[in-house]
Amino acid sequence: MPKLKKLRDDAYNRQDGRCWYCSRLMSPADAISSSRCTAEHLLARCEGGKNTSDNVVAACWLCNSRRHRRKVPLSPEAYFIHVRALIAKGRWSEPRWDNGF
Ligand SMILES: [Zn+2]
Repeated sequence: MPKLKKLRDDAYNRQDGRCWYCSRLMSPADAISSSRCTAEHLLARCEGGKNTSDNVVAACWLCNSRRHRRKVPLSPEAYFIHVRALIAKGRWSEPRWDNGF
């Protein structure tokens, strides 16, 4: 998907390389790291979301995969609030089992 790749890279630059959810610095998309950059659709493609620059943000793999690990994923906006609340409480640390997956 070359277009999505470009949107992801654009989002990465727009966000100064920081995750849209947890705001940590991301690794390049091809890095083997849980902080690697992934593309996140604000409106899921199955719900009609498009591959456009206002619908694609860059999120680290950890945030992206944690959101999709839920049976019913929170909306990006709700998940954003969730992540920020946990960070504020110091409870968004990276668990060991997420390293080097
Ligand atoms: Zn993140």
